Parts: sequence; structure tokens; C-alpha cells
Amino acid sequence: MRVLVSGCLAGLPCGVDGTSYGEYPLARFLLSRPNVKAFAFCPEDRAYGTPRFTPNISRGNGFDVLAGRARVQADTDAEEYITEPMVREARAMAELATREHVHLALMMDISGACGSTVVYNGRRKNKEFSTGPGVAGAAVMELGIPIVSQRDERTLRMVLRKLGAEADAPFGDGLDHHEREWYIATFGAHSGDRPQ
Ligand code: SF4
Repeated sequence: MRVLVSGCLAGLPCGVDGTSYGEYPLARFLLSRPNVKAFAFCPEDRAYGTPRFTPNISRGNGFDVLAGRARVQADTDAEEYITEPMVREARAMAELATREHVHLALMMDISGACGSTVVYNGRRKNKEFSTGPGVAGAAVMELGIPIVSQRDERTLRMVLRKLGAEADAPFGDGLDHHEREWYIATFGAHSGDRPQ
């Protein structure tokens, strides 16, 4: 299985703080399977460098940014919009997926770039969220490539079952992100309404 993967989930120190954001055992387990070939990419590192301010989508999700209906804003007190580099590198990530004929994308949810189910709406300190993908997530989804995030345990386990590796996988609560209490309390029960 050929898998496009967020650089940080592959262990690259490309997060906003120069780390890989810690361990996600099930995602790492999937990437370590011998029948998985991973293609890692970090759109924000390429767009803004590392370390960096956190880029957030303002008033929408990644589809809105790609359509010109929303912008990307630096998470600082200055009203600084930084949309163009994000769109450029989101498209570059999607081009990599096409070039390498990936079957699946494994991407870091809630990121304004790599998110698949939820993104911040505006500055993180406001703790407001939008449903839908980040900008790179949207560009990959537009190609029809399925995305699973590090928070989607039920779907990750299904993928591992197809790879013949579920029995040895680490186990958590068995739920996908949109099935958990936080998501349902924030957005309502959208079971089966995942934007992909
Ligand atoms: S979530 Fe995406 S953009 Fe953010 S550090 Fe990871 S790979 Fe880079």
C-alpha cells in the first residue's frame, strides 16, 4: 500500500515548534508495516520554514481557502494573512500523491494544512473550530484520495485488517475522531457524515 503521510506523523521534526508532535502509536504501526511504502511531506515547512508561527484558516476550511472564500492567517496579534504559500504547498502535496500513485493519505488532523475532519477557525486561543479539512487535506481530497488521520482508530484498524496486521496493532478506544465525545459535543452527531 502506497501512503502519503504528514511529515510529522512520519517522525520528521517539522512541527511549528521543531518537533514531530509526539507519538501516535497506531499511525506509526501502520507506517512500519513491510507492505506499506510511505511518502512524507510537510506543506507548512515548505511554505514558512521551521520553527514558525501557527497558520490557521480564518472563517472556513481548506476547501474554502482553495476556492478563495477564506484565508490563512498567522496566529499572532498582527492581522497577517499568509494564504498563497499554503495553497502552493498544498497543491505540491497533492501533486506528490498523484505522482506516486498513493492509495491512502495518513494526515495530522486539526492542522490548518493537514487536517481532515476538524480545523481551528481563526486564532487557536479562541478555541473555535470548523468541520472539514485543512488546505492540503482539501487538495488531496479533491483528487479522490481517501484520508485517515492519526485520530481515526476505527478506520486505521480497518486499513490494518486489509494489510493483514490488525492482530498485532496497539489498541485504544476503537473510535474515529468524529465519533468521540468532544467532536459530538462540539459539532453534534455527524456519524457517517465525514467530509471525504
Ligand atoms: S501537520 Fe502537516 S503541516 Fe503540520 S507539521 Fe505535520 S506535516 Fe507539517
